[in-house]
Amino acid sequence: MIVLVFGIQGSGKTTHAHYIAEKLGLPYVSTGDILRKIETEKTATGREVKKLMESGNLIPDEITFKALDEFMETHKIENEFLIEGFPRSLEQVKHFRYKPDMIFEFVLPEEVAIARLQDRGRYDDVKDSIQRRFSWFKEKNLPVIEYYKKSGVKVIIISNEASIKEVQENIDEQLKN
Ligand code: AMP
Repeated sequence: MIVLVFGIQGSGKTTHAHYIAEKLGLPYVSTGDILRKIETEKTATGREVKKLMESGNLIPDEITFKALDEFMETHKIENEFLIEGFPRSLEQVKHFRYKPDMIFEFVLPEEVAIARLQDRGRYDDVKDSIQRRFSWFKEKNLPVIEYYKKSGVKVIIISNEASIKEVQENIDEQLKN
């Protein structure tokens, strides 16, 4: 089974993506995690990734594809996995050779996401970068969800305004159907 997970920053998608992966017994893959590891490398690519990630921009496809392919190969992941944050644009859809069985989209009004990020003390420092991530999400990521929806993939929209426990109960309910 192939499951995709999407959501804006501050939507709590990572916590719930791990929960869903565990529930379904699937390995968890995240391009954000893979790229954050590359960001720490003292190479030209590492420096480029760091700059782009800090400013809230997307990483060029050639870097993302190579890093993802290597990760999948090293961990021998194929046909059965949950992936968070990929494919994040229609161009990336072309590179993704799987048809997803299910997509989870975690939704949260931007003001609520911002309030949560402010609580964690991160918003003011990185305001522009967060706003840029929100814009990328609308411009690039939403068309991906639309595209898969039109091709018949089940899209499950989960509001993440409730508590973690309530959201998990909602996920459990959705997975039963
Ligand atoms: P995330 O952890 O999914 O919020 O991703 C954090 C950052 O990693 C994003 O803001 C991008 O800079 C980069 N990133 C993650 N996934 C992708 C992707 N599929 N394509 C391009 N950049 C990505």
